[in-house]
Amino acid sequence: MPWPPPLSTPKKAWPAFLNVVQRITTESDMKFLTVDNAAEIIGKPYHGKMLIDGVFCEAASGSKRERRSPAHDVLVGVYPEAAQGDAERAVEAARAAFDAGTWSNLSGRERADFLLKVADGIAARVEEMSLIESLETGKPLTQARGEVSGCIDLWRYAASLARTLHGESYNTLGDAHLGVVLRQPVGVVSMITPWNFPIWILSQKLPFALAAGCTAVIKPSELTTGTTVILGEILVEAGLPKGVVNIVTGPGSVVGRPLVADPKVDMVSFTGSTKVGRMIASEAGAALKKVSLELGGKNPQIIFPDCDWEAAVDAVVFGVYFNAGECCNSGSRILVHKDIAARFTEAVIERARQVPVGDPLHPEVKVGSIISETQLGDIQAAIDSAFSAGATIALGGGRHETDRGLYLQPTIVTDVTPEMAIARDEVFGPVLAVLTFDTVDEAIDLANNTCYGLSAAVWSKDIDTCLKAARRIDAGTVWVNTFLDGFPELPFGGFRDSGLGRELGLHAVEDYTEQKTIQLHIGERQNWWLPK
Ligand code: NAD
Repeated sequence: MPWPPPLSTPKKAWPAFLNVVQRITTESDMKFLTVDNAAEIIGKPYHGKMLIDGVFCEAASGSKRERRSPAHDVLVGVYPEAAQGDAERAVEAARAAFDAGTWSNLSGRERADFLLKVADGIAARVEEMSLIESLETGKPLTQARGEVSGCIDLWRYAASLARTLHGESYNTLGDAHLGVVLRQPVGVVSMITPWNFPIWILSQKLPFALAAGCTAVIKPSELTTGTTVILGEILVEAGLPKGVVNIVTGPGSVVGRPLVADPKVDMVSFTGSTKVGRMIASEAGAALKKVSLELGGKNPQIIFPDCDWEAAVDAVVFGVYFNAGECCNSGSRILVHKDIAARFTEAVIERARQVPVGDPLHPEVKVGSIISETQLGDIQAAIDSAFSAGATIALGGGRHETDRGLYLQPTIVTDVTPEMAIARDEVFGPVLAVLTFDTVDEAIDLANNTCYGLSAAVWSKDIDTCLKAARRIDAGTVWVNTFLDGFPELPFGGFRDSGLGRELGLHAVEDYTEQKTIQLHIGERQNWWLPK
């Protein structure tokens, strides 16, 4: 089809279940921004290849998968569609490279030098990578630029840790003993990543595993393969020895499974849904493999009456609509004190109504398109179910009426009660649930009333209130008077169904190591028994 498609392209019919929500909530005055020269910016589709044993290659079968931009419905990427045999070859290559010691025997300085070269390689391709990331995910190009640029710092931080990774020694065991605890790379690590922050999430894993001396097999999401494949090109240009990093592209059920099940894999690092994470954990657990999981969340922001009003309103809108809410850390529910609930919610609705939604290529757009028809349907089903359960759709609730692209209106659901699914389940879309509370205890109970425990925020000018709440909320990260800030120095991960283990932080490299105790004896050893 020529681009742009003719304006006469028929609009897709609304799913029947949405009609009722639509009638009540369609917001005609919401901003929707379009771009006249999108076709020019998009250019030609990117053709990527897999990387197996140092060679860029197609799938053995020759099969390919196409990715169309969810915002424009234009072909933007073509990738090999791997099968189980391709995945097995990739694991074999990673195993052979690890066992040969081509990477694990390098010094920390040599590994750090390589990671720094990769950081420079990413810096040289920020524009190209950001465009592909934006086109494949539907996220704003300006945001994609921030993420790709941010990855440079993750690789540099990992380089610093490559040189400081160390074990322990015990000179306190008595005259005859010295204990040395080594950190050794765990071996071959499979990395399976999702579609919402493709290059960012990979950069939370790969440089740290490489810093530890591991080799890797990577499987990006089949929806957002481009930037991972480009990273493969950067790795090779930086001098990556063959087999140290392998990239296989294709669907999770076909390509992902062998990366978990193959006995040649020592550890699985997975980011994605709790459902798939649970399956992976049980398979890895049966084989007694190390596993690290970064999964879903239903993250509350607790708003006390003495909050900085302007900052809190902005953070609530940012928290839930950043990346169109397709974010494990999405601030998808607010718990507001009853004294300010009506006024605060009104202020949030007013701000959310004005958030610029539209073509991700528009420089002012803050909310781009949803990743796929399936995801859009799931989000709409969650909104519909909240409505059926008695909640009010106070803003949005439906699809933007556009000629092309998968866009949802920023949505706010009020009159939510704790037992409703919208109060507890992850929606993974631009949907905010509003709940209210009277006392701090009630706020904490509500915050913890979910199977997840990824992140939370507390808004109050009283530091005692903030710290008391922060201590009692079950979450891997609690922000105080801010939201979604992050630094490579600070560990990231979740309690309960939000995951296992932590990424980033001072110990990020250690997660990819095994400990080995070496016990040395000094001088004459006392016999256990001597024959008479
Ligand atoms: P998903 O679980 O469907 O897929 C994630 C990855 O797993 C993809 O590469 C997919 O191909 C692969 N996969 C699917 N089935 C598999 C199987 N049987 N074996 C091996 N691999 C398989 O998740 P998604 O839809 O891509 O991403 C959305 C989810 O990810 C959300 O639930 C979100 O909360 C979560 N997420 C969590 C974090 C975090 O850091 N906590 C970050 C981003 C996304």
